[in-house]
Amino acid sequence: MTDSPDIQAFEVAIVGGGLAGLTQGIALAAHGISVAVIDREDPDRALGAGFDGRVSAIALASQRMLDAIGLWRHVGAAQPMWDIRVSDGDSLLFLHYDHAAIGDQPFGYMVENRIMRQAQQAALEHLPLLKLFAPMGVSRIARGMPGSGRAAELELGDGTGLHCRLVIGADGRQSMVREGAGIRTMRWSYEQTGIVCTVAHELPHEGAAQERFLPAGPFAILPMTDDAEGRHRSSLVWTEPTARAAAIMALPDVAFDAEMRRRFGSGYGEAHVVGPRWSYPLTFLHAERYTDHRLALIGDAAHGIHPIAGQGLNLGLRDIAALTEALVEAKRLGLDLGQADVLEGYARWRRTDTLVLSAVTDGLTRLFSNDIAPIRIARDLGLGVVDRIPPLKKFFMRHAMGDVGKLPRLLKGERLA
Ligand SMILES: Cc1cc2nc3c(=O)[nH]c(=O)nc-3n(C[C@H](O)[C@H](O)[C@H](O)COP(=O)(O)OP(=O)(O)OC[C@H]3O[C@@H](n4cnc5c(N)ncnc54)[C@H](O)[C@@H]3O)c2cc1C
Repeated sequence: MTDSPDIQAFEVAIVGGGLAGLTQGIALAAHGISVAVIDREDPDRALGAGFDGRVSAIALASQRMLDAIGLWRHVGAAQPMWDIRVSDGDSLLFLHYDHAAIGDQPFGYMVENRIMRQAQQAALEHLPLLKLFAPMGVSRIARGMPGSGRAAELELGDGTGLHCRLVIGADGRQSMVREGAGIRTMRWSYEQTGIVCTVAHELPHEGAAQERFLPAGPFAILPMTDDAEGRHRSSLVWTEPTARAAAIMALPDVAFDAEMRRRFGSGYGEAHVVGPRWSYPLTFLHAERYTDHRLALIGDAAHGIHPIAGQGLNLGLRDIAALTEALVEAKRLGLDLGQADVLEGYARWRRTDTLVLSAVTDGLTRLFSNDIAPIRIARDLGLGVVDRIPPLKKFFMRHAMGDVGKLPRLLKGERLA
């Protein structure tokens, strides 16, 4: 792999080794493609308990891909999601998805982001084709001229040079790879903040995820595995307008716990916040294109959505499934992995899915983040209608599983030849 002590050659270089970037690296290396992943974050810090308190809903199709690339077997704990319940304030109309209506598989699994990062690090040990540079910045990316056939060149913060056929930008919403390529974005702020914390409760959650639309914004109660002491736990994603969220975040522990319980209700018995709280500003972002010369964007670098439906990372994982399939096929045919038609195939595959889901989550956020009476009545009727029309309900259930549309093979759980 090494050309000279200071220049190293890989087939692909990925800038950003978060949940999307490193998973993309693992998927490629597991299929025989050499890959460098560069992340500015110190991996030890990123694995720390205080770094990221989120718990991600991993849809069933995404889980099948993680299994097919050898990552899932390193996931230490995952809570199956058997039911999804959606309700609007105290309205009597609600939506209930029961997995048993469409089979015996769960909708997906709730996995702590910290556990997913641990699994990524464990998977690396078995992948000699993947080299992680972290903590490390990228000081320069030169992708050459289309048609020149020249490799792309990256210069890392310590002066190391990398040559590769394709650069993947997985460096999140503020992507410097995207900005450097001059790819414009459509973006806005929801003026909302997602407060995230863990709640220990007396009664079991039975694998049910609840989305409650409260006047201030969505309040999600997401099932987690029991802790080491056997306590039942759920993760909250509690949305508030930004100014109110700042005030809530600043409350002392006892008052924060009391505010949580006012919204949490009594259905889980005695309940208390355990551990730290985190907050995330909620924004929308969509890149005008996902590719450029010797460049592909994946994950939040390409599209960032509101967490209302727990789909942001799933979109990124679907990018990975499509891009991996395109690159593995290109390699089999002896094509240049950064060739325009290979990348166009990826972009075409992903565009409709990301645009539709981005628009739907944006619409739902606006619909459910206000308390205007006619809108409230209309959306409650909508929930009631979907709940009572079995074919429509089944379609939405399959959507929650990530099982609609023309799926890349990894999302069906197939390894690529
Ligand atoms: C409150 C909340 C709850 C959510 N819940 C869910 C859920 O249940 N299910 C779901 O599917 N999604 C969920 N999401 C969305 C999901 O968390 C994101 O879509 C996902 O984390 C994006 O991952 P990423 O790797 O693309 O980007 P990021 O997580 O932003 O990672 C980017 C990486 O790039 C690195 N980086 C950045 N710039 C550079 C640089 N210049 N050089 C080198 N490295 C760089 C960073 O260090 C980082 O590691 C949620 C989001 C929020 C806010």
